[in-house]
Amino acid sequence: MGTQTIERPDVDTEETTDDDAPKFFHYVKKNKIAESAVMGTHVVALCGETFPVTKSPKPGSPVCPKCKKIYEKMKKD
Ligand SMILES: [Zn+2]
Repeated sequence: MGTQTIERPDVDTEETTDDDAPKFFHYVKKNKIAESAVMGTHVVALCGETFPVTKSPKPGSPVCPKCKKIYEKMKKD
């Protein structure tokens, strides 16, 4: 009564706890992943964002809006 158990807290709040980890899920082309092997440890997302391949956003993080737009355009072609 009065107390609520929140199992899944909202991930909408932008926290800057881990600077290295991307806040969004980015779409990455498969050949870009191969490219990243050449570049080192970074992958290039559709939106042009580069981030360490070893870092991934927390589960439940939103999809990068830029990547999503580009991806939808690609699907239409
Ligand atoms: Zn992106």
